[in-house]
Amino acid sequence: MESYTIHDYDVLVIGAGGAGLRAAIAAIEQGAKVGVVTKSLLGKAHTVMAEGGMAAAMGNVRPEDNWKVHFRDTLKGGGMLNNWKMVENYTKEAPDRVRELEQWGAVFDRTPDGRINQRNFGGHSYPRLAHVGDRTGLELIRTLQDHAVKMGIHAHMETTIYRLLTDAGRVVGALGFNRQTGEFLVFRAKAVVLATGGLGRIYQITSNSWECTGDGFSLASMVGADLIDMEFIQFHPTGMVWPPSVMGILVTEGVRGEGGVLKNSEGKRFMFDNVPERYKGEFAETEEEAERWLQGDRSARRPPELLTRDVVARAIRKEVNEGRGSPHGGAYLDIASRRPADYIKKKLPSMYHQFMKLGNLDITKEPMEVGPTCHYVMGGVRVDPDTQATNVPGLYAAGEVAGGLHGANRLGGNSLSDLVVFGRRAGMAAAEFAAKQTAPYQVDEAQVRAYIAEALEPFNNPHGENPFALMKELRATMQKNAGIMREESELKAQLEILANLRKRAWNTSVSGSRAYNPGWHTALDMRLMVEISEAVVLAALARKESRGGHARLDYPDPDPSFARINHIIRRSSDGTLTVVAEPLPEMPDELRKVAEAKDLKELSEKVGA
Ligand code: FAD
Repeated sequence: MESYTIHDYDVLVIGAGGAGLRAAIAAIEQGAKVGVVTKSLLGKAHTVMAEGGMAAAMGNVRPEDNWKVHFRDTLKGGGMLNNWKMVENYTKEAPDRVRELEQWGAVFDRTPDGRINQRNFGGHSYPRLAHVGDRTGLELIRTLQDHAVKMGIHAHMETTIYRLLTDAGRVVGALGFNRQTGEFLVFRAKAVVLATGGLGRIYQITSNSWECTGDGFSLASMVGADLIDMEFIQFHPTGMVWPPSVMGILVTEGVRGEGGVLKNSEGKRFMFDNVPERYKGEFAETEEEAERWLQGDRSARRPPELLTRDVVARAIRKEVNEGRGSPHGGAYLDIASRRPADYIKKKLPSMYHQFMKLGNLDITKEPMEVGPTCHYVMGGVRVDPDTQATNVPGLYAAGEVAGGLHGANRLGGNSLSDLVVFGRRAGMAAAEFAAKQTAPYQVDEAQVRAYIAEALEPFNNPHGENPFALMKELRATMQKNAGIMREESELKAQLEILANLRKRAWNTSVSGSRAYNPGWHTALDMRLMVEISEAVVLAALARKESRGGHARLDYPDPDPSFARINHIIRRSSDGTLTVVAEPLPEMPDELRKVAEAKDLKELSEKVGA
């Protein structure tokens, strides 16, 4: 019989990115004993990759900015499919969460008069992103980690959670294993916060780190939690497409915020021709006006390069499809000819060093070749907008794994502040729930033993499939059939591929010992990745329109009949996933006026924002 070690916590947080660490701090503040589990090391979560900054309407650069403008921008970017209550909570609280980070030691860039500096980003009406050069995520994690460690978190590093444990319909802990040793660990907990990040790794080209295999979505769904909006995946417009050593790596929107422009192979700045109807009048119509805006002229309008990500990604794809792309299927992003080398090195130091080191490319001298890369998932585990509770008692979710805030598309910079606003709320609510659980709860040993046996199957299956080959097939087919542009025939074909991959994922073979065995890790990852890929494809098939991050070749326009519908993915007891269309919660009139204000002038005149 396999042995395992037991750890007891009031609150178990799965994930040590921004959301997980902020949740852990909040739960400890409520007096809970907190354990944090991470697949990698503390300080290494995917959040460290975040570059551009965190959005919060602090009004440090433009005093006209406030939560109502941020509220409107976020809903507009999200195609109005966002959960309005989450957006309200988020936009009101984000400035406090940024200031709190500063009190805990985060060293933000400064305005000349010494306040936290804020930069421009796509879809934001005003400069709104608090930032630390282009290393904002790193500073966020450093600050939260220092604080959490001081407060006394118990960290389990290089530990993967394989399954959540339940008792009578309630989550009571999780089963995991230490990646280094292969030892199994049982975490008994009165409440669990999922903060496992995104799912970019189900696609072949992605900016996401190796940890982002979408585990949390599947873990939650497998115990009966609803998922929401899974069709909405953001393909960031500016991932490197060349040279191969940097393929998929993100070029932060900060490059465009600092004056970088997109050009096609004919040298034309094509974004002026790609402003959608709903944004007409809000963006500069000449190069000269765009530059004036970048230099702080308040009478000018924003450069069209700062349109939302879906719009920019599709504009690049259009140039490529019409034969004006760069040699490797992208477009040129040029900051070299727009700003002096010293300025670029000062404002975008990581971009400069990273591409110099990894690709031998000097962005102060040459343009970058960029194209869409899978970047972020708007959908996720469905949560209560105030507490982040899922529909399964004892289970909470925060950060990228949770859905609802971003609707059909996320604005850049709206994730880092999401992590701290909702990480805190999740941690507080989970600790409160845990404190109320006075009756003894059970971890069912038979359940634990069954999951351990299941996890070890690949070692006892000499004729099974190679998990690496399966993973490659999954990622390539998701990229081709459920990527940036979708259509019914390909999505249906992908469902069949996934049904086949699902069977094969439960019939893999691995050799060697359990101590740091990447084949075994891949075999177990595959089981969860197939689950979540199916949810994405089902939701994408159901939405017969194009909106935000979901673009259908066979339904290229938004369809009003889908305008107020969220897709919920629900799992039945036999494991079948179904899509349920649910109307959006009604927005109160006062907020509707804010959300639907025609422009900033109307917003200011009619609702005093
Ligand atoms: P993550 O930081 O992804 O952390 C997830 C944690 O869960 C990790 O510790 C991981 O090990 C753990 N985990 C996962 N599965 C398991 C499991 N089965 N068992 C145990 N542990 C598990 N957003 C912005 O707002 N501004 C930006 O400037 C910005 N820049 C970005 C730049 C890049 C290159 C990328 C890729 C993203 C960027 N984003 C940005 C998005 C943002 O970084 C992410 O959405 C955010 O960091 C996600 O944080 P998280 O806490 O939800 O999860």
